[in-house]
Amino acid sequence: MKTIIANLKMNKTYDETKQYLSIIVTQYNKKNEVVLALPYTSLALGKFLLEGKGNLKLASQNICDEERDQNTGEISGEMLRSVGVEYVIVGHSDRREKYKENGKTINKKIKIALKNAMGVILCIGENELEKKNKKEEVVLKSQIEEALSGLYENELEKVIIAYEPIWAIGTGKSAALRDVENAVKAIRKTIKDDFSLNASESIKIVYGGSANTRNANLFCGCNGVDGLLIGKESLDEDKFLKLLSTISK
Ligand code: PEP
Repeated sequence: MKTIIANLKMNKTYDETKQYLSIIVTQYNKKNEVVLALPYTSLALGKFLLEGKGNLKLASQNICDEERDQNTGEISGEMLRSVGVEYVIVGHSDRREKYKENGKTINKKIKIALKNAMGVILCIGENELEKKNKKEEVVLKSQIEEALSGLYENELEKVIIAYEPIWAIGTGKSAALRDVENAVKAIRKTIKDDFSLNASESIKIVYGGSANTRNANLFCGCNGVDGLLIGKESLDEDKFLKLLSTISK
């Protein structure tokens, strides 16, 4: 079974999400796991519409890196769990770049998500310059090590790594299949060196970056790839359902 994550980013009002989810819930054939990362304002609605719907899971796009209450405007792990959130996206390049989130912050967020019994979708990936300078593996290794520092091996069962080359996100330029396979291999090697062979083989890794109906199943067929993270192509329910229908188990 593949895991397909839809990152709705800052899209959809409450009513728009209601319409979107109602269509997904009634029309999706549920052959793969689909994780819907909704904006904060629609999470409670997501709990109501997705609860008990088998392979459809609810995710948050962010979490506060602290647990104390003096964080005006932030949302805690406990609050997310209370509205049925099962996964939290951490380390997305939008947040690393625009909100200057660093490895230390990402590590704190991961620990809080895990402490509150939620899974983590950890996004990592190189930028254009790093790719040009063939620094992909070095970048991925350091992002993984910062993010997963201090975690126990058994906690990795709750972590999905999303390999998302920054230059491919929202640009229409997806990565070459062979480059994705090499990156995934490098990610598994880091997990093996830092944790164990067993952890490196069992950790889930998905690809994200301009995936669409034409290439989704090709990425899912890459060696070591367990699914996808989809941004733009997940926004329209019909397009997203069509993309989902192309993916074999
Ligand atoms: C993303 O936002 O993480 C993403 C993969 O977006 P897109 O599919 O639009 O490239």
